[in-house]
Amino acid sequence: MKIGINCGHTASGAGYGAVGIIEESLHTRLVGNCLMEKMRNAGIKVTDCTVDRAASRKEYLAETAAKANREELDWFVSIHFNASADHQGRGVEVYTYQGRQYPEALAVCTSMRELGFCDRGIKDGTGLYVIRQTKAKAMLIEVCFCDNQADVDLYYAAGAHDAVARAVLSAFIPAVKEGLWQHKNHAAEFIQFVGRVAGKDWRERKIILPSVVTAQAIKESAWGTSELARQANALFGIKENGWTGRIYVKTAVEQRKDGSYYAVPQTKWRAYDSPEQSILDHNDYIATRSTDGGRTLRYQPVIGCDNYILACQYLQKCGYATAAGYADSLIHDYIEKYNLTQFDFWEENLKQKI
Ligand SMILES: [Zn+2]
Repeated sequence: MKIGINCGHTASGAGYGAVGIIEESLHTRLVGNCLMEKMRNAGIKVTDCTVDRAASRKEYLAETAAKANREELDWFVSIHFNASADHQGRGVEVYTYQGRQYPEALAVCTSMRELGFCDRGIKDGTGLYVIRQTKAKAMLIEVCFCDNQADVDLYYAAGAHDAVARAVLSAFIPAVKEGLWQHKNHAAEFIQFVGRVAGKDWRERKIILPSVVTAQAIKESAWGTSELARQANALFGIKENGWTGRIYVKTAVEQRKDGSYYAVPQTKWRAYDSPEQSILDHNDYIATRSTDGGRTLRYQPVIGCDNYILACQYLQKCGYATAAGYADSLIHDYIEKYNLTQFDFWEENLKQKI
């Protein structure tokens, strides 16, 4: 089987994707690249039909179809994220030529529905250039709505690009599905695991507040489902920076001050023997990281800070993440939403139980 994958839209300029709470062009690449890797690992021949730059939207579409038609493909799959004028749209939809109900297209909808997304079904994509102009059987997947907070939350809670890639892969290789839903109560278990390790470390070393560590772990590892988490037990994206242990090499996605993204290939990341080691090393890193040979500590204001709002703001201010809104996201999307401060007041909690 040979499948052409198109990470929808260009990476910048003409043909760039929708910009919602998350950016379509970035996440089509995260999903598409992850999907291509999984397909190759599963023995499927894959052709990358992604077009990063074009002089116009028209040229982007023509070049995409040309890439797909250059080879004999069994399938052409284009990955997109939806947006709606009132930002209220939710769920997955799949476009095919004349709305044909291919089993693979139906399976994508089913798998996405099982991840929790609303299933908008198969739609007539005859009017879409890349559906009409490609010779292979074609589907264009609108994963979910990038401008709807509930859909974006669900996307991350379900395991982000990795979970979507698995859902699409399972449409082509049904056996993949066996391992797909092993994490039914995954979110709750993940929170308890990280919260307990971080809580114990806070009581012993008072480095960084457990609610903050737990929020960081959820956000950075997409609930423990990211490539770094799975391949390297790394719940945080900590780069090599003087690490003498194992490393894992993969592309980093960074954000510029103007909000745009760029990739740094061949980035070296710290790899661990267990997720627990990853949490403790993260705290060591916060406690000891210095960029001037140890004269000053980069995260000094974070260390021992027992106010989660301030701790998150200090992390951002001290340069922990390049992503804009990192602190706000930790506070609102995770700590407050999932009541992560339950791990900060351990003694109080214990007293209440007595
Ligand atoms: Zn799109």
